[in-house]
Amino acid sequence: MKIPYRSALDTTPEYIPGKSIDEVIGQYGARDVIKLASNENALGPPQSSIAAAAKVLKTMGRYPDPYSSKLKSQLAQHDGLPENNILISHGLEEMIPALCRAYINPGDISIQPELTFIKYEIGVKIMEGVCIKVPMKNFEIDMDGLLNAVTEDTKIVWLCNPNNPTGTYIGEKQLVDFLSKIPENVLVVHDETYREFTTAPDYPRKTVELLKNYQNLILMRSFSKAYGLAGFRCGYMLADAEIVRQVMKVREIFSVSEIAAAAASAALEDTLYLEQVLDVIHQGKDYLMKQLRTLPGRYITVKDTQANFIYIETSYANTYIFEEMQKKGVIIRPIGSHGLRVTIGLYQENIRFIESFKSVLKDCEHIYHKSGATA
Ligand SMILES: *Cc1c(COP(=O)(O)O)cnc(C)c1O
Repeated sequence: MKIPYRSALDTTPEYIPGKSIDEVIGQYGARDVIKLASNENALGPPQSSIAAAAKVLKTMGRYPDPYSSKLKSQLAQHDGLPENNILISHGLEEMIPALCRAYINPGDISIQPELTFIKYEIGVKIMEGVCIKVPMKNFEIDMDGLLNAVTEDTKIVWLCNPNNPTGTYIGEKQLVDFLSKIPENVLVVHDETYREFTTAPDYPRKTVELLKNYQNLILMRSFSKAYGLAGFRCGYMLADAEIVRQVMKVREIFSVSEIAAAAASAALEDTLYLEQVLDVIHQGKDYLMKQLRTLPGRYITVKDTQANFIYIETSYANTYIFEEMQKKGVIIRPIGSHGLRVTIGLYQENIRFIESFKSVLKDCEHIYHKSGATA
């Protein structure tokens, strides 16, 4: 007998993680596989985090501190706000559904850009919320479109800034303008996972100051990307103390391990590591953008990025490109039917990506244009 599961699961999308190196080796026999699919940090975790984590290994026989108190007080200093405005979690992967569990009633409406992080939709739908997707404007978040979609039943709006997967950003003025117009009973999540990589002068860097005026604003930050700790699992939100209190009730109390908290503490202090990361990413970005801009614009769109990844649309089916790239040992991420997202890697990895991509595109031109077929 089939036991019926909750009907909300029928409409909840499945999260499909980036392919692993081992999977691709197994499937294609490719050697020397590189993964540029999940926006992880090409440099690996900072040595300081590895050392700090090793030191607390001996405490792992006990439950961790549910509040990650030491890290929290450090973050309060770092971000300049009281500890009761901070909630630390097992990455944002825990925080996003926990926020939904605390705030989404069945039928509540969530608004998001069409092309953004899929975990927002998963979190909403599992709580039987309704997800409204506002079309992109030239692959950018349409802030007026989001505002126009707001109704009395709107509970939450998700802003990913810079946006995954497009790498585009919302400027400070646009953000403040949006906050000033949106009703104060609508939660606005500002996912700042990629904030460290931004270079645009008008990227909103002082969002903590906005928390005073907008109690419906929630800032989310992660140690998974610029700090290189994706495997450790640690992230946090900055929000009104009441929101922190409610979300704390529904999150997993022991989810942040002592090794994750210690690694995050060390990484936060390791400014040298962060500088190194940003050097590698910004140089990689310059190289990749220069190379990608030489490709025929009729068939390929490349978006400027503020993150550690680049969004590309081609007029060819991305399943073909994705497969062929894997045969060459390069894992990237297909998005929709024609989009591709590539994570900026180390110098040699970026060169490998460009060489493989150019060669796969040549094959595409052959298949789609020479034969007269349309993509
Ligand atoms: C990678 C990513 C995160 C980070 O999630 P963690 O669970 O903290 O690793 C959050 N938001 C977006 C948009 C991301 O791309």
